[in-house]
Amino acid sequence: MKLATYSDTPDSPARIGIVADDTLIDAGFDGAMPELIARWDEVKDSLAGRSVSGAGKPLSSVHLHAPVKRPGKIWAIGLNYADHIAESKMDTPTRQIWFTKAQTSINGPYDPILLARNAPYVDYEVELVAIIGKGGKYIPADKAHEHVFGYCVGNDVTERMWQHAGPQWSLGKSFDTHAPIGPWITTADEVADPHALDISCSVNGDMRQTSNTRHLVFSIWQQIEHLSAAMTLEPGDVIFTGTPGGVGAAMEPRQFLKPGDVVRCAIQGLGSIEGTMQQEA
Ligand code: ZN
Repeated sequence: MKLATYSDTPDSPARIGIVADDTLIDAGFDGAMPELIARWDEVKDSLAGRSVSGAGKPLSSVHLHAPVKRPGKIWAIGLNYADHIAESKMDTPTRQIWFTKAQTSINGPYDPILLARNAPYVDYEVELVAIIGKGGKYIPADKAHEHVFGYCVGNDVTERMWQHAGPQWSLGKSFDTHAPIGPWITTADEVADPHALDISCSVNGDMRQTSNTRHLVFSIWQQIEHLSAAMTLEPGDVIFTGTPGGVGAAMEPRQFLKPGDVVRCAIQGLGSIEGTMQQEA
């Protein structure tokens, strides 16, 4: 199933909808995505029924929000594709490197991405995003797949100057609108192998990143094992699983995003998200 958070106009209250081809069917659920995920076993049959029989509206007529608008946690792994490690002139990590992105950085899949004041080095990073389903602590890698609710496309937008201003990266990763995700969650049962998906990012139609999730250094299962050794993962938590090579900071000369640039991130079977860079007043 494909589950979106949507509203009829950008400012009207958001609801959950089921995406079926070019149609959106309201899920008939009063609550946000983390609550729906937490109650999934109880509600999934009724949602499946609505997706077959429910009257929908054209997907193009609604505003899509981030599928999880306020995740309890957003974690993102650094240096997790070999080509990105090489272009960053770093050694392949033997331990996982994690940083957080602020809840308030979440952005809709087609909403503008803001260029803040005094933040001139904004870069894109397409990433496969895993959404936690059943929560837990001390989840072993061989059981981690049971804890993923679904997947979507993410852009780990990064301000490189702020990222590298200190020993940890979170501030440079947490600007408002710098975590667009979507366009919807594809539930895990519809993703045969999350470690075999083509992934790409273009800027103004110019392809910058192309890879496949088979090149992840630490698998999604290892990532969940590692994070859940430190803290309880909960329904709706968001994990950015790393970006492949081709970021603007590694180009020669370096290329950063400017007002009007259109950044499109796509992953095989999960759809695409597209945001236009906009200077913040
Ligand atoms: Zn990243």
